[in-house]
Amino acid sequence: PELAAVVANRTVDVPDFPKPGIVFKDLMPLFADGQAFRTVIDGIVGHYPAGFDVVAGVEARGFVVAAAVAYATGAGVVPVRKAGKLPRKALSASYELEYGEATLEVHEDAFIAGQRVLVVDDVLATGGTAGAALDLVERAGGTIAGFTVVMELAFLKGRERLAPREVHALLTV
Ligand code: IMP
Repeated sequence: PELAAVVANRTVDVPDFPKPGIVFKDLMPLFADGQAFRTVIDGIVGHYPAGFDVVAGVEARGFVVAAAVAYATGAGVVPVRKAGKLPRKALSASYELEYGEATLEVHEDAFIAGQRVLVVDDVLATGGTAGAALDLVERAGGTIAGFTVVMELAFLKGRERLAPREVHALLTV
């Protein structure tokens, strides 16, 4: 509750971004506040007492969270990137957007088999991005230790789409 309030208080609604009719949740003010950012990272770490070996962050805002969680716990960090960005052989997963599709990629040798991987992103909306990221981690040999977002937009039903996978959100709106 206190953690959720920190997230709620530092998040800004941006109407009509990136398109008319969409209210974009901007978490940058939350990350820009050092004390709030630390509270967010500590909140994520505290949710996984059994730990994990690697944190996979989804480009681009997920990188910010992933690197901090990894450093705080001594885990490694692996990027899940948009198509065409990774320099070596990569696995890819595509998913439907409202118009067209998007593709995420991860290096095929990103994980040692059985490594426990925490997947993180800033916002869960429809769940398309997260579903692709979680599939990629498993296809690359990782074992999912959990999936965490800072904010979940419940009305877009990402949690249902990802079921039976578990979703941990610091704030659900
Ligand atoms: P989904 O695939 O529909 O769940 O969208 C989630 C992805 O889009 C995440 O990588 C988010 O960073 C991004 N995203 C979607 N909506 C928002 C938002 O309102 N604020 C910030 N990021 C968002």
